[in-house]
Amino acid sequence: MILLNDERVIQILKEARRFVILTGAGISAESGIPTFRGEEGLWKKLSPEELASFEAFYNNTGVVSEWYQHRREIIHNTEPNAGHFALTELQKLAPTFDLITQNVDGLHQRAGSRDVIELHGNIMENYCINCNLQYSQDEFDKIYRHNPNHIPHCYCGGLIRPNVVWFGEALPEESIEKAYQASQQSDVFLSIGTSAQVSPASNLPRIAKQNNSYLIEINKTSTAISDIVDLHLEGLSGEILPMLIDDYKLLLNDK
Ligand SMILES: [Zn+2]
Repeated sequence: MILLNDERVIQILKEARRFVILTGAGISAESGIPTFRGEEGLWKKLSPEELASFEAFYNNTGVVSEWYQHRREIIHNTEPNAGHFALTELQKLAPTFDLITQNVDGLHQRAGSRDVIELHGNIMENYCINCNLQYSQDEFDKIYRHNPNHIPHCYCGGLIRPNVVWFGEALPEESIEKAYQASQQSDVFLSIGTSAQVSPASNLPRIAKQNNSYLIEINKTSTAISDIVDLHLEGLSGEILPMLIDDYKLLLNDK
């Protein structure tokens, strides 16, 4: 037992049926993906707010498309880290498990996690704003490369956009619905690498708590929910999660 020496916590984890995980930018940052906000998020002196909106895309399609291709390239060159892999392992061990992410990079899936609830979409997917036709990354790359102005057009003439949620846009209804439901029914809720400031994702740990879930937070710093969590583990998720899963394995063998 490295992390858990509290009898009550041990009992809760042993008896927990449903584990619900919420991950944010922090876990991806540990793989080397720059956070969306802050200095390193700037691109050609433009802030994410000036790039990640429908208005920006519509008025400046070439620049915004180029930015997304740039971000995809960064993601291509990174790997899931020990934290991602630990969650994949937990999915196999836990009786019921839901993984909700605010990240669009697909690193959880690359680490082997299944049925990931993506609140903000997936940057590798694209679709036409006119006819809704979906484009895989390969299909999109071909169209993008053959267009000197980086303005990707669908066969129907409509613009092709990334399948991500932009500022001012609603979250995909099905995903947020699933996320709310899972959080309500969770026995243990883990909030990892998220500042818990942006609604509606920030409501999820609070909903879990209101429904008597045991709330654990893993973060490099204190966050907006640190005051209400049952257990705050400060540090890197890539270091803490593998230890937590090892503890959980010991608990299961102990039964
Ligand atoms: Zn189209």
